Amino acid sequence: MAKKAITSRPKSAPKARAVRAAKAARPHSGPWTRAEVVEAFTRFRDANPEPKGELEHLNPYTLLVAVALSAQATDVGVNKATRHLFPVADTPQKMVALGEDRLRDYIRTIGLYRTKAKNVIALSEQLIAHHHGEVPRSREALEALPGVGRKTANVVLNIAFGEPTIAVDTHLFRVGNRTGLAPGKTPLEVERGLDRIVPAEFKRHAHHWLILHGRYTCIARKPRCEVCLINDLCRWPEKTV
Ligand code: SF4
Repeated sequence: MAKKAITSRPKSAPKARAVRAAKAARPHSGPWTRAEVVEAFTRFRDANPEPKGELEHLNPYTLLVAVALSAQATDVGVNKATRHLFPVADTPQKMVALGEDRLRDYIRTIGLYRTKAKNVIALSEQLIAHHHGEVPRSREALEALPGVGRKTANVVLNIAFGEPTIAVDTHLFRVGNRTGLAPGKTPLEVERGLDRIVPAEFKRHAHHWLILHGRYTCIARKPRCEVCLINDLCRWPEKTV
């Protein structure tokens, strides 16, 4: 069921918003102006002031594991498995004690589960050996863990530690390119573009607003432009409004 309430335009637009929109320069092509970016994120914030990720977790460690399991899998699929796994293994020590074979049984509904099980056990061992069993608050240390790449590190830094990182997954990559907000040929290019263009006041939640926008409104096959909050600002030539 699409979460229209999260991403659809509020029914009564406040006057202030209309004024802001009028002030925003709108070339409707080329790079977004700062006023347009502020306008877009103000609308996202108004519609959903405290956006949350959809991967269920109990602490930074289970968040790290959930994100590592979510590569090429849906959050819903990961949550189904981790709802049984995390009550028995919510620390690196318990995960290592559980062992790779039993871990595989818990996550066998998730794609690439054999490799992921191996990585989760290995990263748990490394957390115990090098970080006193804690999740490190450092990109370098996170990316040094088995199965942890830049996107996973960005998600953990953002959600667990409140860092203003923007993790670019398939949704953000599509939204960044389609809207013209941050075009790029690779996720890293889009991430750097968003990092440049998103004002500091919106950075903490930008990842969640854009992921929800891509997941429920600017969907891959048939974007819902008619209910899109930023349809007047979007640069996509094929938008349907
Ligand atoms: S107008 Fe359409 S293509 Fe543009 S951001 Fe909105 S949903 Fe996506």
